[in-house]
Amino acid sequence: RAKAEFDQRICYYEREMDEQARQRRAMARDLWTAVEENAFTLAYQVQKSISSGHITGYEVLLRWDRPGFGPVSPAEFIPVAEECGAIYAIGAWVLKTACEDAATWPEPYKIAVNVSGLQLAQFELVDMVKMVLMQSGLAPGRLELEVTETAIIADKKRALAILSQIRSLGVQIAIDDFGTGYSSLETLRSFPFDKIKLDRSFMSEVETNEQSKAIVRAILALGRSLRVPVLAEGVETRAQLDVLRDEGCNEAQGFLLGRPGRIDWADMLELPLRA
Ligand code: C2E
Ligand code: MG
Ligand code: MG
Ligand code: MG
Repeated sequence: RAKAEFDQRICYYEREMDEQARQRRAMARDLWTAVEENAFTLAYQVQKSISSGHITGYEVLLRWDRPGFGPVSPAEFIPVAEECGAIYAIGAWVLKTACEDAATWPEPYKIAVNVSGLQLAQFELVDMVKMVLMQSGLAPGRLELEVTETAIIADKKRALAILSQIRSLGVQIAIDDFGTGYSSLETLRSFPFDKIKLDRSFMSEVETNEQSKAIVRAILALGRSLRVPVLAEGVETRAQLDVLRDEGCNEAQGFLLGRPGRIDWADMLELPLRA
């Protein structure tokens, strides 16, 4: 009887796995169609200096309205795009389009582009960045690539070489979701980078929990001793922003400062364009 029950359970799991695989294949097919039909769009989320309140730049976030399903989060479809290889075409489109957009913005504003770990494993990324900068006319110092610790870990040597080459063009590198990877300090020690993006999970308790606050304080101290600015992600409340300001955090990004979407030109233009 136990055997029959066991067999039945295995059977259930197999069906479940088949179903998941089927859904991923269907999504992969739709992703390829979206690539062909140029169906992706970009949303921009503002990043601001905490001390001055001025806009420093925008992060570009990929958006996909999947036919028959509605908007799907990149957290959900990027892994599938990586699995099926569509990420290379998608990543190239994001980089090109974001740089073309940013080249039309007022001078000081930067554009931050997320890069997948798979892109970071290919030397083609270096040439692509060069070409996109040349064609868009965007100054290299206004482009920032966001890479996660996990993306770097996959093939460390190669990622290091690729990042160094890109950085030597004058492009900036930010470590995204800092503090959630499994070897954050090792990452800091061995990789060239220009900014730390403190993961938004640290924000949830920063005003109420002394322990969370202590960790944030320590990461900010780390940034200062490495002479690298720290940007806090996922800032949703005034109280969080106040703590960050008190603790000397450099920049902030989050719903409090602006939701991802179209750029608010009024916001951009009421600022002095040059410092
Ligand atoms: P990420 O790079 O850490 O991007 C920040 C995510 O946090 C975005 O989610 C953004 O909408 C969300 N967010 C911003 N402010 C707040 C806030 O105050 N509260 C909360 N709860 N969330 C906030 P999104 O757009 O769903 O993107 C998810 C992830 O997908 C990104 O995380 C990034 O890893 C990836 N992604 C997005 N666009 C691209 C892309 O063009 N290429 C690649 N390779 N990955 C991308
Ligand atoms: Mg990011
Ligand atoms: Mg992030
Ligand atoms: Mg994140």
